[in-house]
Amino acid sequence: MKEANQRKVLVTGGAGFLGSHLCERLLGEGQDVVCVDNFYTGSKKNILHLLGNRFFELLRHDITFPLYVEVDEIYNLACPAAPIHYQNDPVQTTKVNVHGSINMLGLAKRLRATILQASTSEVYGNPSIHPQIESYVGSVNPIGPRACYDEGKRCAETLFFDYHRQHKLRIKVARIFNTYGPRMHPNDGRVVSNFIVQALRGDPITIYGNGNQTRSFCYVDDLIEGLIRLMNSPDDLSGPVNLGNPEEINILELANKIVTLTHSRSEVIFRPLPKDDPKQRRPDITLAKERLGWSPRISLEEGLEKTIAYFDSLLRG
Ligand code: NAD
Ligand code: UDP
Ligand code: UDP
Repeated sequence: MKEANQRKVLVTGGAGFLGSHLCERLLGEGQDVVCVDNFYTGSKKNILHLLGNRFFELLRHDITFPLYVEVDEIYNLACPAAPIHYQNDPVQTTKVNVHGSINMLGLAKRLRATILQASTSEVYGNPSIHPQIESYVGSVNPIGPRACYDEGKRCAETLFFDYHRQHKLRIKVARIFNTYGPRMHPNDGRVVSNFIVQALRGDPITIYGNGNQTRSFCYVDDLIEGLIRLMNSPDDLSGPVNLGNPEEINILELANKIVTLTHSRSEVIFRPLPKDDPKQRRPDITLAKERLGWSPRISLEEGLEKTIAYFDSLLRG
């Protein structure tokens, strides 16, 4: 039995980095959470602490196959997110974005449930306008090594908007920019996790290219707040809505900041830049500010300190 005012919420990819924080937050708000994950990149460890909660339910399931459950809301996060993960089996990456989205949209259609898609700043590709606004249609190489993810996510957005127009589904599309925090995978090759682990171990910090490329990093708690506000926003707001921290930094500066914060003796070394690596990225978050009253609160330094503490205890443990 559901309790009064309690919503039954499905989180796909709920055992991943962002998904586990989202499940935790929803449970904290008193919702009844169904977490679906096939553990492709996620881990039971991320949600072990939630398993004792009687309003938390874990289903091992691959969303490229149909799923029949009864819920009021769906957050669709299932998809490997780090380049080495999504490039490991690129066909599966496209499948999870296309077949997986169709299944979750079919589920939402049957239930008349609101469905939120975790899209990405990668839909902008290597952007020619800066900062990126939602109306920018992007510059993506459809046949490069990042395409399975970038084009997969673009097709997922197409599907969301077609279900919205064709079936009057209530959709919410969030374009998430680089997000970091505790429970990132230590070996996912992403820049924040790589640099922190390298700095803590005293290994060389690997800068790809000359380190002039920029990114804008959002702390996980801020991002989750944005996702929840978007889900609860008025029906006329489908998005896409950029969610990210507009504080932009180049990768060399990021390396130096992490070396300082960890009191590390690591040296910085330079490695070749991966193909199609975007040169710059910063969200314009005017829409999120205006429609959701949302903007990030946690500074890069504060967020990095929390993330360093997490990796420090992980490496010691
Ligand atoms: P993650 O890899 O930690 O989480 C993804 C989760 O999805 C994992 O638990 C994985 O096991 C699960 N999954 C993968 N394929 C599945 C399938 N077929 N069926 C069921 N579960 C499956 O990555 P994350 O960083 O938490 O990203 C979550 C979502 O947010 C992804 O959709 C990602 O594209 C999006 N996103 C993340 C970022 C970021 O910086 N972290 C930025 C933009 C978009
Ligand atoms: N689907 C699902 N759960 C449901 C309803 C549908 O997984 O509760 C899947 C099913 O595989 C279906 C897909 O979602 O093929 C798309 O559903 P839709 O109703 O849009 O189209 P259909 O293919 O059924 O005509
Ligand atoms: N990067 C780097 N060293 C690393 C890992 C990543 O210089 O050890 C760079 C990478 O080339 C990119 C940026 O950091 O320019 C962000 O990489 P990440 O994979 O975290 O995210 P994305 O490229 O998807 O934004």
